[in-house]
Amino acid sequence: MTKDSFLERTVGQPLGELTQLTSEQRAGVVRGKIHDLHFFFDEGRSIAERAAPPKTRQLAQSLFEALTFTGHEPPAGLAERIITDDLLRREADRDQNVYLGPLFTRRLTRAVPDLVFQPASANECSVALAWARRFGVPITLRGAASTAMGGAVPNDGGLTLDLSRLETVEIDAAGRVAVIGAGARLRTIHQTLAQRGLALSAYPSNLGGTLVGWFVTGGIGLNAFARGRALDTVRAADVLLPGGEHLRFHDDGRLDVPEDRHRRTLPADEAARWFESNGYAPLTLADLAGSEGALGLVLQVSVKIEPRPAIGAFLLSFESEARALEAAAWIERDATRGFGTPANVKLFSASHLRHVRAVWADEATKAWRAQPSAMSTGERMLPWTRIVGPAELGAPISREQDHGGAYLFVDFLDLDAARAFARGVVAAPGAPQVLEDESVRIAAERFKPQQSPHSCRGRRRSRRPRATLSMPKPTSWPTARRS
Ligand SMILES: Cc1cc2nc3c(=O)[nH]c(=O)nc-3n(C[C@H](O)[C@H](O)[C@H](O)COP(=O)(O)OP(=O)(O)OC[C@H]3O[C@@H](n4cnc5c(N)ncnc54)[C@H](O)[C@@H]3O)c2cc1C
Repeated sequence: MTKDSFLERTVGQPLGELTQLTSEQRAGVVRGKIHDLHFFFDEGRSIAERAAPPKTRQLAQSLFEALTFTGHEPPAGLAERIITDDLLRREADRDQNVYLGPLFTRRLTRAVPDLVFQPASANECSVALAWARRFGVPITLRGAASTAMGGAVPNDGGLTLDLSRLETVEIDAAGRVAVIGAGARLRTIHQTLAQRGLALSAYPSNLGGTLVGWFVTGGIGLNAFARGRALDTVRAADVLLPGGEHLRFHDDGRLDVPEDRHRRTLPADEAARWFESNGYAPLTLADLAGSEGALGLVLQVSVKIEPRPAIGAFLLSFESEARALEAAAWIERDATRGFGTPANVKLFSASHLRHVRAVWADEATKAWRAQPSAMSTGERMLPWTRIVGPAELGAPISREQDHGGAYLFVDFLDLDAARAFARGVVAAPGAPQVLEDESVRIAAERFKPQQSPHSCRGRRRSRRPRATLSMPKPTSWPTARRS
């Protein structure tokens, strides 16, 4: 009799059976058995018993002692959240999108952290920062590691603080703010808000990253034309300085500082003095936007939220880039007085749109034609209720071949403003053509490829005969569903 393989013992299925499943089914089987990969390798094993390099074990033991210094019973799972396993530490030598290879990560830098800690509270973060400072251990902060610039990857080993467990999303609908923890990812934030009929006022075109990571990388994203940068949407930020002091920065310059066991709010003109008297250079909320973890750990931010909007969207075609730019200047200078500020004004070159259209024409995305409403109505708990195209808004639609010199995409978070724009667009410089179906699709696919199930379908081995995937070519793109 042959012995069960490791895979069979762990997930209950042999490799042969698993490979017959789709990737989603495989993920379901594995997730059903392994609830938390970080606990899987070392659950219940003391740090001293683990298979890890001596330096890693020694640092892990020292951090564990610092975290349990008070003598209170350690919270359940604390030891497991100090990760020493080789495989898991090596995963932290890259971000989600870029791996620079062993020459860079092993020879030129030491990109594998000596240990990873997943704090579950502000206090644990604070203790870990103070511990690292005391023992001279380099620290790297890691949100969702989606920035693709290597900021979440160490240069010289040390401690990586993986903030993914700080994933709270608290909504104050009356105050029009949400308090978002450092580990909360944008997909979850959009879903949580959408369930309450709310949406972020601005956000990046990234569902896998964190909102706090977007703020500290100086983000500018969707709705920036109307709502500004990430910084402009932040009302307050809770921050731990490198020594572990917990501060709150308000958008009007006030600063909450620790005092004895309480907190005191300083007026804006006293904030700089507090930093100087505590051995730090003065810091403001604006300094944190773009600080990329170098100035402190942002625990949470309070951000502006608003009712989940219906979006009115327009794709305009021009003879040349110069004419599209004239129209963009007109929108900014004159038209906003008449119909309100658009959420986004984007210039697309002719070659950009040619590539977008080539992707749309691709086999793998043809299924979108059968199911456009999934994206254009926000059914998938996205930050809009539906996307309304130019025809429904009353704009004159071009039926001719489009100019194709350059394009402007313009959208509004207010349908009355969008209707006013639809009426006024005939007077825009550059005599733009208004393209109906592509207006809706460009707006709907702002998170693509991450949001589209069809882009995944293209990569998965299909069990269906190929012919069933190919559909008759429609004469035009489907329009958004009307409610
Ligand atoms: C598909 C895609 C689309 C994107 N679209 C946009 C866009 O439209 N606009 C835009 O501006 N950006 C965009 N980005 C960039 C990305 O959205 C943001 O940089 C992202 O939200 C970062 O979050 P993160 O948790 O992944 O950060 P990470 O990659 O984990 O970290 C980024 C940096 O911030 C530091 N850091 C992380 N968390 C904290 C914290 N809590 N406190 C202090 N420092 C911290 C890290 O040390 C690192 O230096 C996009 C990225 C992708 C992959």
